[in-house]
Amino acid sequence: MKPTGPIPPAFATPGTLTIAGRSAEDWVTEHGSPLFLYDAAQVERRIATLRAALPAAVEIHFAIKANPFPPLLARVAPRVGGLDVASAGELEKALAVKDAAHISFAGPGKRDAELEAAIRAGATLNLESEGEAARALTIADRLGVVPRLAVRVNPSFELKGSGMKMGGRPSPFGVDAVRVPALVRQLVAAGADWRGFHIFAGSQSLDTAAIIETQAATVQLAEQLMEEAGHQPPLINLGGGFGVPYFAGDTPVDVTAVGAALADVIEGATQAYAIELGRWLVAEPGVYLTRVVDRKESGGETFLVCDGGLHHQLAATGNFGTVVRRNYPVALARDIGSAGTEVVSVVGPLCTPLDRLADRISLPHADVGDLIAVFLAGAYGLSASPHDFLGHPKPAEILI
Ligand SMILES: *Cc1c(COP(=O)(O)O)cnc(C)c1O
Repeated sequence: MKPTGPIPPAFATPGTLTIAGRSAEDWVTEHGSPLFLYDAAQVERRIATLRAALPAAVEIHFAIKANPFPPLLARVAPRVGGLDVASAGELEKALAVKDAAHISFAGPGKRDAELEAAIRAGATLNLESEGEAARALTIADRLGVVPRLAVRVNPSFELKGSGMKMGGRPSPFGVDAVRVPALVRQLVAAGADWRGFHIFAGSQSLDTAAIIETQAATVQLAEQLMEEAGHQPPLINLGGGFGVPYFAGDTPVDVTAVGAALADVIEGATQAYAIELGRWLVAEPGVYLTRVVDRKESGGETFLVCDGGLHHQLAATGNFGTVVRRNYPVALARDIGSAGTEVVSVVGPLCTPLDRLADRISLPHADVGDLIAVFLAGAYGLSASPHDFLGHPKPAEILI
């Protein structure tokens, strides 16, 4: 038997799983199975918790690639200081709900049409290379617009304990720190509106001490680059990296401690700061529900075969950037909190052995027709999964 991750406290009440006051079964009866549900009130509570923990000079940005579902975006946008996008498609979604002055566009390989769309709209481009900077300046010149440009820095350190390292090595992301001051001077000389630095050292860290240390190093690096460049920008984006507890033994980041430490580090600074988060804001408020279609035995093991799987929840199957496959929190929706009575694997309908939502977990007896809940489904779920693979219908997503 293998353990599952911890069920988020808001859904861990023993008995039938209820989401915003209605049972999982009720929601699926109305909207079909499989189904993604996002609890807006929980998202709002998380934003408020973080806002209270952070110093006033630090803006909260939402990295929309974690969940670009438009109703969710519309709910989050007015409650955060900015939206971070990574494609022209995301830019369009962000512009529908937020003023361009509070949108930044990061990511390598921005095409000319994408640079132009951002410059025309007045969004900030987080430049990933000198080549991209040159193209942005040329496009802005042709349009007769002063572009809002920030420089993404490839720092010489990485966020310890992060599931996805984004610094400290040769990288497609950002300009190596040593070359940044020269690029900033060039942008300022060209008449661009230089907005600041974007420094992102890693993702999915649950190590509070490491986050505190990385933020301090990031602030220090930004100050040093500012001094070397000889110009002070309005905003320094410190990246994010706050993880969520997906797996057994994981514990949440202590955001109060992070906020207090950051307040000390930035004391006296005259520019604003931002942190940009995706999963920390939206993963826990999301639940994915899938119905058991078949129950079968093979080689002494029991399989619950469901109508949902890897094509919607790639990350839960361990195929989205994890080295060792571990179980997400997965439960029988009508019986949360009871001790398991049998060991089962929860699999999806795709013709690949990768399609496994839970591997040899202990559950109360489940049968055909039962609903299985996969938690932490609010980030990197449907939009980060190959939903066209095998041609099953796209599941509904609802914001409640
Ligand atoms: C993906 C991404 C984020 C969000 O990462 P999370 O782990 O979801 O918080 C933030 N900033 C940038 C630049 C990203 O690419």
